Amino acid sequence: MKIIKRGKKSEERVYRVTCDDCGTVFEFKRAEAEYVSDQRDGDALTVKCPLCKRKVWTAAN
Ligand SMILES: [Zn+2]
Repeated sequence: MKIIKRGKKSEERVYRVTCDDCGTVFEFKRAEAEYVSDQRDGDALTVKCPLCKRKVWTAAN
């Protein structure tokens, strides 16, 4: 089998977020974050800011 264009597995997807508390902009892989399933607000990912260690939330889609 030959791959023509390599996609990304969902756990390899990279998200870019800005920390609301200290303003640090950073990227993380889905596998590094905690997945939170929420039927009302939609699924989210939480990850700790590398600088201030606060939890940063972002939509998972
Ligand atoms: Zn921060």
